[in-house]
Amino acid sequence: MITERGLDGLLVSQPENYRYLSGFTGSSGWLLISGSHAILATDSRYTEQAKQETQDFEVAQIRGELDSWLPQLASDLQWHELGFEANHLSFAAHHKLSESMKTKQLNLQLIPTTNLVECLRCIKEPRELELITKAVELTDAAFEQARAIIHPGVTEREAAWEIEKFLRQNGSEGIAFDPIVASGPNSALPHARPTERILHSGEVVLIDMGARIGGYCSDFSRTLCLGEALKAVSCQLSAIYNVVLEAQLAAIDKIKTGMTASQADRLARNVITEAGYGDAFGHGLGHGVGIAIHESPTLSPTSTEYLLDGMVFTVEPGIYITGLGGVRIEDVVTLEKGRAKVLTRSAKALQYVM
Ligand code: ZN
Repeated sequence: MITERGLDGLLVSQPENYRYLSGFTGSSGWLLISGSHAILATDSRYTEQAKQETQDFEVAQIRGELDSWLPQLASDLQWHELGFEANHLSFAAHHKLSESMKTKQLNLQLIPTTNLVECLRCIKEPRELELITKAVELTDAAFEQARAIIHPGVTEREAAWEIEKFLRQNGSEGIAFDPIVASGPNSALPHARPTERILHSGEVVLIDMGARIGGYCSDFSRTLCLGEALKAVSCQLSAIYNVVLEAQLAAIDKIKTGMTASQADRLARNVITEAGYGDAFGHGLGHGVGIAIHESPTLSPTSTEYLLDGMVFTVEPGIYITGLGGVRIEDVVTLEKGRAKVLTRSAKALQYVM
């Protein structure tokens, strides 16, 4: 991967990437990788932890910022073309590094790379799939619990806290992201934050949450109706719900290994557009899930990525009408033998909670 690109070595700075390759979970570290070297550089706060967590990397203790140790180390290794992660290394760090190399008159060049490790991460190994499946099972259980708590009269924040508490008490390593509980008009904001708003009968409530097990995430959304069936939610919202569900089921049914992520997006988008809500589906159909809650592949109208067996991603169409509310239904799927296999188990038909 590194030599194919004409690089002598690669500097990995993105935390999920160095965790994936080395197993090191610390918040500050760097990998230096070549055909003959695998070095994990970190400062004194983390060297012991790094030695415990990594088997394949030699741990080097560093001090100070990148520009104070990297140029010398790379030149000692006789590297001349050093790849770095252009999507992660900051402009300021790059600038300081270049200045330091110039001052030291080193024959070393910084070459930008993108998605080298991300491309490895997007195909999950069986061990990774197992952890994601566990995280998905935990969000299913949390939703079961949430349905018992969520009813007209509680606030969005109370419901979000109950979800977070359940996840943490049942094995989630922290949470993958702050749970979203968005009711009534708030549900029209795809990334709403829970507020003190009280849930009311006759509205929808959108729940979005994620667990983390063994470092791997799950992502889950459902939309519930508050109050009694028929009397409750406006006709328009139940019509919207059915469109989103139809779009989600169509995508899951027709997604195939080998299609592009934009073709997959279109499977759901066509259903929503034909129902007249094309403009109300503002985000992409889904995203990869793994060590990061959002990773490759990106399922969107402009994505050029190909979907391959072993990938794990969300399928989460939504329709959002300002002032009225929104509906999103999100499952995690994996591509297996050419088709999407749904990992999420929770029911998807329109559910009413009293
Ligand atoms: Zn998601």
